[in-house]
Amino acid sequence: MQLILLGPPGSGKGTLAAELALLYQIPHISTGDIFRKHIAGKTALGSQVEDYIQRGALVPDELTIAMVQNRLNEEDCAQGYLLDGFPRTIPQAEALEVIPAVRHQQPDAVINLQVSDATILRRLSGRRHCSGCGRNYNVLSNPPIIDGVCDHCGRPLAQRPDDHAETVIRRLQTYRQQTQPLIEYYRSKGLLFDVDNEGSAQRCYEAVRKRLAEWLAKAGL
Ligand code: AMP
Repeated sequence: MQLILLGPPGSGKGTLAAELALLYQIPHISTGDIFRKHIAGKTALGSQVEDYIQRGALVPDELTIAMVQNRLNEEDCAQGYLLDGFPRTIPQAEALEVIPAVRHQQPDAVINLQVSDATILRRLSGRRHCSGCGRNYNVLSNPPIIDGVCDHCGRPLAQRPDDHAETVIRRLQTYRQQTQPLIEYYRSKGLLFDVDNEGSAQRCYEAVRKRLAEWLAKAGL
């Protein structure tokens, strides 16, 4: 199973991806998470990408494609994968089609999450994660019991530097200019369906699960 999640920042790709990866028993590959790990680990790649991420710009295609290519060559991807945050440009989508590790040249389905700008700004400004165990919270929709403290390990909660208001606006502009054209790219190939994610994460998951099962059955998968 080869799945791609598309959608603007804050559209809920990460949350949905974690659930779908569990359902289909495929690895959840988030390019944003991989980049953040490199930054935290102070690797050479981390220092190359840090500035782009902090500015809300995209990491150059060359670096991103090489990283994804390495990841898809790992053994756990042999039965498929779920890509969250990749591709983000047309050249990335074209590169994905010729990566040798990819079994089919096209993904089985591309799920396009639709969310209004107002919801994105609200969600991202409330997003927090634990600096210890990494658990995710939202001060509005999923707050910790004690303000600013992780329920599970008691460590302080942090905000992603690129979730600050000006960077979010920049990330949205980047999305519109460079990533949105992928919707038409995949729609014209008959590979994409839209799902509204204005409501709860649970409602979105149920809708995607149902839609995906119908979609895959229709495609004989
Ligand atoms: P995310 O966690 O998916 O919101 O990604 C965080 C940041 O990582 C993005 O704003 C980009 O700077 C960078 N990034 C993640 N995926 C890609 C990609 N496919 N191409 C270029 N940059 C990316």
